[in-house]
Amino acid sequence: MDLPSFISALPKAELHVHLEGCLTPGLARTLAARNNLPLPPSLSALDQTGSSYSFHDLTTFLQVYYPNLSVLQTAHDFADLAISYLTTAHAQNVKHCELFFDPQAHTARGVPFPTVVRGYQAGINTAQRALGISASLIMCFLRDHSAEFAMATLMDSLPFKDVIIGVGLDSDERDNPPSKFAAVFQRAAKEGFLITMHCDIDQPDTLTHIGQAINEIQVDRIDHGTNIIDSPELISTLKQRGIGLTACPISNGIVTDDFKGKEIIELLRQGVRVTVNSDDPAYFRGYLNENMLKLASAADLNVTRKELIHLQRNAFTISWISSWKRNHFLQMLDEFERLTLGSEATQVLNGV
Ligand SMILES: [Zn+2]
Repeated sequence: MDLPSFISALPKAELHVHLEGCLTPGLARTLAARNNLPLPPSLSALDQTGSSYSFHDLTTFLQVYYPNLSVLQTAHDFADLAISYLTTAHAQNVKHCELFFDPQAHTARGVPFPTVVRGYQAGINTAQRALGISASLIMCFLRDHSAEFAMATLMDSLPFKDVIIGVGLDSDERDNPPSKFAAVFQRAAKEGFLITMHCDIDQPDTLTHIGQAINEIQVDRIDHGTNIIDSPELISTLKQRGIGLTACPISNGIVTDDFKGKEIIELLRQGVRVTVNSDDPAYFRGYLNENMLKLASAADLNVTRKELIHLQRNAFTISWISSWKRNHFLQMLDEFERLTLGSEATQVLNGV
């Protein structure tokens, strides 16, 4: 089996994907037409069939990303967005997804909170029925807004605790450390939400932020966070507590000058529960398989197929699912390993 086929066939979990980042230009055009809205500037700049947005760093990415959200107006739109992503994920043999969404990006422009959550959940229900894929929602707060706005959003979410399994923190990290939201996450934990948090790549004070996330906020997971490689002390705490990292190679390579494959694999080899994910796949032009392939095909990393399976074992292990479901997926991986590797478990990929 060649490498792309191996990655395709590998049962996978996606733990770091933003639903708003799954809005393809094609779907955005459809929704703009359905809602009688003008095309957002990024789409106006593409021709009628253009299938990828244009940006070159984090700042220009955010300048395209937020205006595009104006096409999402009704619960039907949010449902279609969830179905669109889950259909692609299912085609890539992704078995379970934990989907970030940013309610404040919608409530701030007048879309009611229940419209967003009910829409996304309806889409998940439809995809689960049609495809059998497992999925759930994680609500993220926008860290470049106030802690008060985050707290108000948390209050809005309380009637939806049965469909939102956890809370996170995303958007622009500069001058917005985890500690800014300590009270919000303390309340979220009290309400029974699991907690994750973006610690973006190569940010100023990143190790301080990772330390706050682990020790002050007491996160259950960290999104990105691979700069932890520079702190043996934080790695040791991470391992002791079994906290996982959700890394995103392709997006790393676009918003910084490196995809951080070396760090991801080094952390894996040190026993950290690191995983591979797609982040904002409609923008970064890579879903989960492409992200796995990016890592696996890097000539200097010598990633083995056993390690690719291990990355997915980590993902199912740190996923927020029932132990019954986790065991089911882990057994699926064991079977895949037995069928594909047999005695070749330590085979080196490059050149194979
Ligand atoms: Zn992200």
